[in-house]
Amino acid sequence: MTKRISFVRGFRVPKEKDINEALGNDASFSNEFKRSFNSLPHPTSDLDWLANYKEKGQTYKRFLNQCPFVNNNSSSQKYIYLTLLDNDNRLSLLNIDRLIDYTQKFFQMEIKLLPLFTNFNWNEKKKTWICTMKSKNDSIKDITLRTRYNSTSEHSQICVHNILNLLKTSLPNDARCLVAITLHDLYSDESDLFIAGLCYGNRSVAIFSFFRYDPRLEFSEEFWYDWKIKKIKTKLMSTIILLRSCRLLTHEIGHLLGIDHCIYYACLMNGSGHLEEDFSQPLFLCPIDLRKLLQLTNFDFIERYEQLLDFCIENQFKDEINILKKRIEILKNDKTMIQTKKNKDFDYELQQKSKRLKKK
Ligand SMILES: [Zn+2]
Ligand SMILES: [Zn+2]
Repeated sequence: MTKRISFVRGFRVPKEKDINEALGNDASFSNEFKRSFNSLPHPTSDLDWLANYKEKGQTYKRFLNQCPFVNNNSSSQKYIYLTLLDNDNRLSLLNIDRLIDYTQKFFQMEIKLLPLFTNFNWNEKKKTWICTMKSKNDSIKDITLRTRYNSTSEHSQICVHNILNLLKTSLPNDARCLVAITLHDLYSDESDLFIAGLCYGNRSVAIFSFFRYDPRLEFSEEFWYDWKIKKIKTKLMSTIILLRSCRLLTHEIGHLLGIDHCIYYACLMNGSGHLEEDFSQPLFLCPIDLRKLLQLTNFDFIERYEQLLDFCIENQFKDEINILKKRIEILKNDKTMIQTKKNKDFDYELQQKSKRLKKK
């Protein structure tokens, strides 16, 4: 039997009335559509997010008041930029093209991959990582990154703050945000075991590490430098890594776009306190967060789900295929559901981009 742990003291579990209020009375989601989402799960470990953090939840109305991007469609800062920090061999684990394709379908926004402008080299004598960076005016400089190193496991972790400051100086003018992806292990404070990512500068730059998302690795819950390689069927490996990285990246970009942690349903935007909890969370947004995304980008619910379904079929995300098929069927039978008018130009642009990026 799964262990049942209490929510953190003072956390108020939302009741049906609270959930409806959070969604907004004017939302036209049918009850059947809402019922296709699971309720907020109870914590099962002391480390679970809601066993430790008293989240208040962000209602749709609060999002409208808080998010700087709402009603700002004319802004020239419209692209999400991704960049890799170096030509690390391990990056071949990640299928960046597929990750971009998914993120684009998920947010219905154009994602651009910024060519490599940084590279990391290990300084064996100093046991630190050095970043060689090409700045906007093409000058090249070396920056020593704060690094911690353990000689027994020979594992190193890079402090995120230096890197985020470097990213801030390289933010393209038309970027809504710049997200760096790496397979280096990261930390923020000495007390951290690790951090999966962090954003800076009014949500404009962020860095995420997929190092701990590799299913072949097993990590100590006590020491940052302690990990080992375990055996796993290689056939499943790329699917698991892709699924985990799609989940992490969309959760984090969700934050960059102004969507806070969710307490209303089992949802992509639920906070997670540890890797196990992260891996158990849904890949998709609950109705409340879906409504927030609709405010930010103009999309048709059925078309968006169909695009995500194609991706999940192509990449064998089995559970997600069933969820999406069910929701598409509900929406197709539902005449009351909001159907947003598509912006044709944007749609065309997105299709072209998807074609270009698709890699078989
Ligand atoms: Zn989060
Ligand atoms: Zn949610």
